[in-house]
Amino acid sequence: MKREIDTLIRETFGRLTQVDSASALEKLHIEVLGRKGALAGLFKKLGSRPESERPALGKALNEARVQLESALEEARVRTVSVPSVASTIDITLPGRTPNLGHLHPITQVGMEITEVFRGLGFEVVEGPDVELDYYNFEALNIPKDHPARDMQDTFYITDNIVLRTHTSPIQVRVMEKQKPPVRIIAPGKAYRCDSDMTHTPMFHQVEGLMVDKDVRFADLKGILTIFVRQMFGSDVDLRFRPSFFPFTEPSAEVDMKCVMCMGEGCRVCSETGWLEILGSGMVDPEVFKMVGYDPEEVTGFAFGMGIERIAMLKYGINDLRLFFDNDLRFLEQF
Ligand SMILES: [Zn+2]
Repeated sequence: MKREIDTLIRETFGRLTQVDSASALEKLHIEVLGRKGALAGLFKKLGSRPESERPALGKALNEARVQLESALEEARVRTVSVPSVASTIDITLPGRTPNLGHLHPITQVGMEITEVFRGLGFEVVEGPDVELDYYNFEALNIPKDHPARDMQDTFYITDNIVLRTHTSPIQVRVMEKQKPPVRIIAPGKAYRCDSDMTHTPMFHQVEGLMVDKDVRFADLKGILTIFVRQMFGSDVDLRFRPSFFPFTEPSAEVDMKCVMCMGEGCRVCSETGWLEILGSGMVDPEVFKMVGYDPEEVTGFAFGMGIERIAMLKYGINDLRLFFDNDLRFLEQF
């Protein structure tokens, strides 16, 4: 009988290695440990053995039961925790796409603008949003009592510190550190105390600066024409109108042929056929003197544009505030 017990253990262990599902394991469990199973059968036989053998055989049977129970339990845990992949996951189902966001249209257009100028050899630089009055105004030829300060509604933090009203201070900071030639593009946020359909207290600008020996107004026109045509199409014409900025002389505002009506006149261009897109000019010699450049030796041009304005023209958006409402129905269109 001892041999029968050993055989049962050996056979059960052998069969356990072939069990590949919970139902097969359950079947094996019933066959071996069930009330009418093999082990129960051996216990029954115990009564027919001579009395002297019973204690040893009973002990062997109990040990066999413990051994078999723990082996079957172990197998059960294994079958449950490592279910067969094919039986639980339908790998032919299409996957669930994760809900990803994307870049804000202002960010996208800002990157597009800087890419065009990067292609023309301009380096991208950045500067602080909280700026000294000196860099925001004085170094740009706007002293404390200058009437041009009225053009800009400034957020003052202290008498001497402001939220920059344009990204032009970056140009000054670069020229202070770097000798000519300079060819930079400075994207960033600017702040003015103003809010209506065409103004927001925070907006985005890109400014450009090129300084070298013999940089002329013709270079400015050429660079800006390439830029506008890359952004809006190769058939867009430009128009330069005389204007005033304290840090450039002469200054020009740049219009492009209305991209909505191609110059015919429409509501977007107020029937003029032209759209104002940026300001520009030759750097004022006074600005060069402030940063230690010799105006007799170098010349340069600067230009600046609002990224929101470019985005509005590019996508035909009529209300600036839409960019800042964060309405997903609007943002998802880009
Ligand atoms: Zn038009």
